[in-house]
Amino acid sequence: MRIAALIVAAGRGSRTGLNSPKQYANLNQKTVLAHALDVFSLHPSVDLVQVVVHPEDTALYAKTVCSLSSTEKVLSSLHGGQTRQESVLLGLEGLSTHHPDIVLIHDAARPFVTKEVIDTVLGALKRARAVVPALKVKDTLKKADPEGGILGTIPREHLWLAQTPQGFYYDDILSAHRKAASLHLHEFTDDSALAEWAKISVRVVEGTSENSKITTAQDLIDAHKKIEHLMSKNMQPRIGTGFDVHRFTSGHSVWLCGVEIPHSQSLEGHSDADVGLHALTDALLGAIGDGDIGLHFPPSDPQWKGAASHLFLSDAARRVRIKGGSIVNVDVTLLCEEPRIGPHRTAMQNRIAQILSISVDRIGIKATTTEGLGFTGRREGIACLATALVLPPFSSDL
Ligand code: MG
Repeated sequence: MRIAALIVAAGRGSRTGLNSPKQYANLNQKTVLAHALDVFSLHPSVDLVQVVVHPEDTALYAKTVCSLSSTEKVLSSLHGGQTRQESVLLGLEGLSTHHPDIVLIHDAARPFVTKEVIDTVLGALKRARAVVPALKVKDTLKKADPEGGILGTIPREHLWLAQTPQGFYYDDILSAHRKAASLHLHEFTDDSALAEWAKISVRVVEGTSENSKITTAQDLIDAHKKIEHLMSKNMQPRIGTGFDVHRFTSGHSVWLCGVEIPHSQSLEGHSDADVGLHALTDALLGAIGDGDIGLHFPPSDPQWKGAASHLFLSDAARRVRIKGGSIVNVDVTLLCEEPRIGPHRTAMQNRIAQILSISVDRIGIKATTTEGLGFTGRREGIACLATALVLPPFSSDL
């Protein structure tokens, strides 16, 4: 299933009172659009992200791209049209060469879209042709004349407030948009209205009040407050620990912390059995709450047989960085009677520095015997403890 996100950012709306359109307003060092873009491009199920921009906003968009956590999935932007509907059609046409199965159409002015909302929409698309996240109307609805005279009360039962991202099967929504354009129908206020007109059945799913749209100056002030609240929550450093053990087996060398050390025995394991890099990989994964080494590289998977463990460690570092985190320092303690670690400490530090792309002075390598006690004392194997400190901001949370 190939999933594309189409972000509509070509609007001119400036009820915020700013000189630039609201999607380029600054929210904590990033534009409103960049916040939305990051959520989609960091989502594991989203393969492609297409943005539609106004031709006059090229410079603003270029600046937005520079602040993204990852640009890997972001396609070159396309120019929008006179109306939102026209911009969506241009975006959908632009995606045709990439053959997506599903497209999530999202308004750039909703920077607080979450991974959970995307998951809900994608999940519902397994049972529906089109999906709209929406909020149930809670307040009593009144109809009034222009002077404020009440004309009546509208029953709120069955009424929902539509949000984005709205999810569609790509072929459905593209042909619906083409048909509407060919009949010069340009009045649809969102894509689900157009889908309804085209007789595509649309389902509503529960959205979140968090996923609000920025329209007015007050919305922007509220968004700043929300970001500040999230920032204070997500500016905290995170720590992780890892522990691993491998037993000795016959052989002539052991791999420890990425360095091969000649020894009278080897360590047994599915990969190269580098107990140091395994513990360190788990420490990094622990710091970002992303499972453990066995989850990402199952020992049952033959492709990791005899694998060099630097692959595991560099993958963990990539996972930290894709979340926006940076690795401050790591500390490793090897528990063994032999081999002696001291002579190899510098080589180990250099190797880990290289794998993690951090400086050597941020890598601690220590070793201790266990005074002849326990399995390490009996020279049955080597154990390792590791700690990693990771600093925010974690962009995926903002
Ligand atoms: Mg291991």
